[in-house]
Amino acid sequence: MNHTSQAGQVRALKKGLGLLGLFLSILLLFVQTSSGSHQSNQTQLFAKKAKRVIVISIDGLDARYLQRRDEFHLKIPTLRLLMNQGVSARGVLTVYPSVTYPAHTSLVTGAYPGKHGILGNERFEPPGTSQTGDWNWFARYIRADTLWDAAARAGLKTAMISWPASAGAGDYNLPEIFKNGISLQEALARIVANTRPVGLFQEITRHDPALYQHSNPDEQDDLRTRVAEYIIAEKRPDVVFVHLFDFDHFQHKYGPFTQEAFAMLEKEDDYVARILSAASSAGILDETAIFIVSDHGFLPISKLIHPNVLLAQAGLLRATGERDAQGHAIITDVRAVAYVTSGSCSIILRDPADRETLRRARASFQKFAKQNNNALSLVEGAKMREFGGNPDAAFMLDAGDGYSFGNSFTGEAITPSQQLGQHGYLPTRYRTSFIAAGAGLPQHLELGEIRLIDIGPTIAATLGLTLCDADGRALQLR
Ligand SMILES: [Zn+2]
Repeated sequence: MNHTSQAGQVRALKKGLGLLGLFLSILLLFVQTSSGSHQSNQTQLFAKKAKRVIVISIDGLDARYLQRRDEFHLKIPTLRLLMNQGVSARGVLTVYPSVTYPAHTSLVTGAYPGKHGILGNERFEPPGTSQTGDWNWFARYIRADTLWDAAARAGLKTAMISWPASAGAGDYNLPEIFKNGISLQEALARIVANTRPVGLFQEITRHDPALYQHSNPDEQDDLRTRVAEYIIAEKRPDVVFVHLFDFDHFQHKYGPFTQEAFAMLEKEDDYVARILSAASSAGILDETAIFIVSDHGFLPISKLIHPNVLLAQAGLLRATGERDAQGHAIITDVRAVAYVTSGSCSIILRDPADRETLRRARASFQKFAKQNNNALSLVEGAKMREFGGNPDAAFMLDAGDGYSFGNSFTGEAITPSQQLGQHGYLPTRYRTSFIAAGAGLPQHLELGEIRLIDIGPTIAATLGLTLCDADGRALQLR
């Protein structure tokens, strides 16, 4: 990091802290107002029923960060305040696979991945089909009713800022569309081309000359926060979804529960303060319910297992060692293939009725697990369905402690991992986070463990909306 960006960050932090002070004083005003009125319900922080909702996802916010916030000396005043004044869960049981796109889609549908159809970040592109490397960027891939659908039915305006699998939806949308191996400029061009309404990104760029100033390949949440601030102030949407993910990136890069991760979480706290401050300046904070959500926890890793190498060794696919014009490995004779979702993967059979391939694939992974001190385990049947796992999988694999899955078809079955933190594992391996505060929500309520699929219905209920395909149900917050 160079000195210029450090100075910029200090400036941003000071500005953020100033705004937080304003936000705190507004909150205090509401506390005084509600406690001074004989008519008001003493459990209510905000006098009004929620007319609006702001949902902020801090990607990868493992519940242990909030549970152990004092032990880690975390300077997260905004999150602490929201936890103290509102509702918080001790932990949230996520969905399977516990990766970003499936989990975020479960957040907005209340449905498990097996129902909503977003089964990984990347789209499953079996060998022999076009290898685009595209992710599940577009809302049209979702096969369940979403919060933005429900909001639109009620005539409410929605905004999404980098919300996974939402491109093409909503009244205002700066979508998350990127691709490995393309430049930041190319990625931005794709984002701009898919922004709703057309021209919104150019409008924000004109309004905020510092839009890119605090962004670099490792950190862009300042940019996303600036976009959220602008849209809240200028467009005043009723329902806002913001996805902040520098913290996720830092945990992959440096590992979870490291000093780098702690420092980034402290920055995320400041971004949350700025977004709430924008709502306050727009005069809508008192009628807004605020939800801080997340998608998965994090585990430290040092090694990758390549399941397609094991399938090749079992004779269930053949990697020729040659590459096509796009540089993709040429794979033939596929009877089974792994669809990797970080700490988990789906084993997909070309012919789902092929019992012999199923038997050989299972035997191969069981033998590998036995020889490698349970470096992976098989997730099958009821256990796979329990958290909404891939309905197209013959079975799934869960990587053991210290391991994640890789995408190689050739070479060693186990290789060192560049990344030091990972997720995607069975939901029971960790917990993620939930905080809700503001209009229409009770104060000082600590929930035990909740399910991620209950969060969407809870957000919907706050606004009197219903999610038609939810597997979860609204939390009773009274
Ligand atoms: Zn994530």
